[in-house]
Parts: sequence; structure tokens; C-alpha cells
Amino acid sequence: MFTCPRCGREYSSVIPPFCVCGESLEIRYDYSAVDVRKWRRREKGVWRYKELLPPVRRIVSLREGGTPFIKAKIGEKLGFDVFIKDETRNPTGSFRDRLATVSVSYGLPYAGNGFIVASDGNAAASLAAYAARAGREAFVVVPKKVDKGKLAQMIAFGARIIRYGESVDECIEYAKELAKLNGLYDVTPENNVIGLEGQKTIAFELWEEVNPTHVIVPTGSGSNIYSIYKGFRELFELDLIGELPRLIAVQVDRCNPIAAEILGLKKNCGLTKALGLFVKEPVMKEGAVEAVKKSEGTAVIVGEDELDLGERMLAAEGIFAEYASAVVMPALLKLAEDGYFERGDRVVLVVTGSGLKGWSGERERFSIGGTKLEILRLLAEKEMYGYEIWASLERPLKYQAVYQHMRELEALGLVEVAFKRGRRVYYRLTEKGRRLLENLEAP
Ligand SMILES: [Zn+2]
Repeated sequence: MFTCPRCGREYSSVIPPFCVCGESLEIRYDYSAVDVRKWRRREKGVWRYKELLPPVRRIVSLREGGTPFIKAKIGEKLGFDVFIKDETRNPTGSFRDRLATVSVSYGLPYAGNGFIVASDGNAAASLAAYAARAGREAFVVVPKKVDKGKLAQMIAFGARIIRYGESVDECIEYAKELAKLNGLYDVTPENNVIGLEGQKTIAFELWEEVNPTHVIVPTGSGSNIYSIYKGFRELFELDLIGELPRLIAVQVDRCNPIAAEILGLKKNCGLTKALGLFVKEPVMKEGAVEAVKKSEGTAVIVGEDELDLGERMLAAEGIFAEYASAVVMPALLKLAEDGYFERGDRVVLVVTGSGLKGWSGERERFSIGGTKLEILRLLAEKEMYGYEIWASLERPLKYQAVYQHMRELEALGLVEVAFKRGRRVYYRLTEKGRRLLENLEAP
């Protein structure tokens, strides 16, 4: 049960970001009841901090949180300590698992018809996994352009995928409507702040690990930096820290509404290959700006041409991150060049999502494309047998190679034997193959 601090209205299921009276809602706890020594006796992970999480009857968990905390080599060159919080090592490969465990556990009694989320990819993949774990249906509203690896996860976890609009902003309202119409539990952080409680546990872990002076956070919708801010503010309220670490929001120059507002620059809202940062009208912009200003942090804008550099620099540390996370490295370099840091600073880079998910463009062709994709397309038209497939392929190929592809596609569960006629074996797409193709073919 959560109460509006201004008008006293109560919210028990979906807790919107704003009360109907206009006040922004924030979930608060009995801070006097928190005993940090208890945390230390529990295993690592989101639920270690359960006194500062919403009460739930049953925890749906895949052991999220408690992610590796690594000292970065680059700190030696820069002259201060740099650490990486490796959120790629969550169950589905992104920090959104922290959101999913809390919102699915909390929402379970309200989710008889299933859960829904609007997402650019990571939150959808997370929800798909946690809903599967909970035995509930997951509906995910994602924009037309979404990283293929994330789609592959949603498909594998059996989510109902709804492609809608150009950027995630447009999906948010649509998810809210669908939730209302179909009685689904909406876990989109812009529609329901419950998941932010999970995300804020990054702050608790960082405090236990190093008590940082600066935290650099890739920023798209703003919900991550705002959650981390909320976490540190609660630590402050508990008297565990004397001041907040400076929070630094990183965006890309092609899409920078939050950073532009903080820095007083002209706003851009175009497509970037860091898809997770492509949020044109971030609903949590105010929260993100507050997080930066109240913590006396700053914002950094990274060029599109620096994304590969970021990927390589993290790779040199042994971490494969998606572009939307790789921005932290060029941001660190920029600030270091500007003399922003001092000796003795403890700077944390939050690496939010795995590079395995960013499977698009050339990576896509490498994984499942070329001939296999062509075969899937042929089979989407009609059932065909081996020779027929071979004869229909545009690129010349040895006959034997077709059978190799068919075996591999069968092993991937994308095609199956439809029927046999004489010695001819006819193949067709499986449901999984059809969905994969549909999603790969979407513009
Ligand atoms: Zn109110």
C-alpha cells in the first residue's frame, strides 16, 4: 500500500509516476527499521535489501543483481580508480533483470491475464524471462527497430511481441492502453514506478563495494540514473553516506534530450545505433535531471563515431557491451581530459547490457542469415523438399550444403519435417521459425 505524500490517495497495484493530484509518487519505507548488519549476512543480489523493497508474497528470482565489480585497467593510465559494474552478467544480460524481479514478484497477484512492458529491448527480454519463470503470459511492446539479440530472447521465452512505432516513447502509451483493455499488469517504469525499486539496488551494491565518488550511467529514458539516485538518497537518509556521489548521465549526440537540457545545448532526437539510448521524449527526464543536479553531477554527450571506440575499450577490459552501454568509456575519457576527476576519486562505470544482444547489421548476417535466412523465407511461402529448396536458392551452393543447413535449422527448432512423399522429405517452418522470420523481416 503506497500513499501520495500530498493528498493521501492510496495505490496498491500499479503505482504510476504521478498521483492523480499531480504530485510525483515515490515509494518510501520505514527507514528506522533497516539494519544493515542483516544485509551483510545475506547472499548477494537484489533481495539482500528487502527492507527497502516493496513487500511481496512470493519472490520470482533468477539470482539477479550481485553482479561483478571489477577494477578497470584504464584507471592506472588516468591516475584515479575506475571500476566497472558489470550488469551484463545478470540472468538475461542486462540491469533490467533488477526491475523484472521486483515488478513481477510484486505484480503477480494482479497479473492473472499476464504482464506487459513497453521497452526498447532489454526490459522486454527481462520481463519475458521472469514471466516465463512465474508461469504467466508476457506481452512486450517494442519499436520497429530493436536489437535482434533481444528479440531472439523474447521469442525464446515465448513472449507475445507487439511491434509499435519508431521509438520506445510511442510504445509507452500503447502499453498503458493495452494493459487497461486486457487487464495486464504494466511494469513499464514510465507507467509504474515499482520496478525502479529493483533498479536502485545498484546503488546499494556500489556503496558496499567501493562507496564511489562518481557514477557514470548510460541514459536513455532516464529511469536507470533516477533509480540509482533514489538508492543513494536512501543510503543518505539512513546516515550511511555523508553525501551523494556525483551522478553523470551519458547520451549520444544524435539523441540527447536529457544531456542537452542539463548542459543547456540544442536538443537532438534522431536515430542512433546505440538503440537503447534512442528515446525521443523521455518520460523520466525530470527525474534524471534532478538526479544529476541534486548530486552535483553532470552530463556528457558522446559522438556516434565514438561508439566503436567505447566497445573496444570495454573489450580491452574483458567486457563485451552493447553500444548503449559502451558510451561510458568515451564519456570517462572526455571528463578525464577536462580535468573533471582528482586523485583519490573512485569512479564507477555502469555497463548496463551485453553486446551479445546488439546482434544487428553484419552480426546478424553472421549468425543467422545468408543462406539460412533465404531458406526460411522460401519455406514461409510453402512446404518444400531438399532439391526444390536447392534449385530455388539465388546463390549457387553444393547440393550437400543444403542438407547441412536444413539439419542446423532443424536443430535450432526453426524448421521441421512436414511430411514425406515417396523419398522426398518436405520441410516447413516451425512456429518459432515463423516468429523469428517475422521479426527479422520487420523494417
Ligand atoms: Zn496525490
